[in-house]
Amino acid sequence: MKRTPLIAGNWKMHLTIQEAVALAKEIAKSSQGLEDRKVMIAPAATSLNAVAKAVRESPVIVAGQNVAWKQQGAYTGEISPLMLKDAGADMAIIGHSERRHIFGEDNAMINQRMVGALTYGITPILCVGETLDERDDGLTWEVLKAQIREGMETIASEQAEKIVIAYEPVWAIGTGKTASKEQAQEAHLFIRGVLEGIYEKKLAEQMRILYGGSVKPDNVDDLMKMPDVDGALVGGAALQSDSFDRIIHFS
Ligand code: PEP
Repeated sequence: MKRTPLIAGNWKMHLTIQEAVALAKEIAKSSQGLEDRKVMIAPAATSLNAVAKAVRESPVIVAGQNVAWKQQGAYTGEISPLMLKDAGADMAIIGHSERRHIFGEDNAMINQRMVGALTYGITPILCVGETLDERDDGLTWEVLKAQIREGMETIASEQAEKIVIAYEPVWAIGTGKTASKEQAQEAHLFIRGVLEGIYEKKLAEQMRILYGGSVKPDNVDDLMKMPDVDGALVGGAALQSDSFDRIIHFS
């Protein structure tokens, strides 16, 4: 099954509008001609529209770092799928570990965000991953299964085929400690099995599963060689054009 790899940069709470546009332009330039893979960037909400305009003539996809489940209303601090679309985004990261662990988002809320995004035409990247304590306690598979099953609840096959999953072990995010390629492959295969349990095998085989957690220029090639690793969600190394350029040009 051929899945088009996706390299996604999560800029988190970094970069002014001017800095974001400058970096986006560099990425747009280095993404030209890359036909066998997709490139996505998720700027902070303040830069979203300016970045979307800066990459308009390029293949770069723009994403929000989160998304609300309603089109509009009394939800202070939230950004609706309609607003994301209006600003130029086509995708949104949902359930990032920083949302789960710093801001207390649970699987039920993440599911609402997933359903809302899909309803209004935003493609979600659903992030899942275990903490170090959960891994040490032998709970990794249980945690991943719950995050996927509860996060995808009520989502029908026709909608699910668009969804991207990102396996991001919490102990590997921003720590410089990457999962080995074998650990990544093992988790991705497990996740594909969970998807197969919810949807049919054909659909589970079509869905892209990204790895995230300290992906760098010197480990991306090894990770991308694994059969169930379909791309990367990159934090720190997505903030410099030279390192992100190397990552999107993985071999
Ligand atoms: C992330 O923010 O999703 C991430 C994986 O960060 P880093 O690459 O810095 O570990």
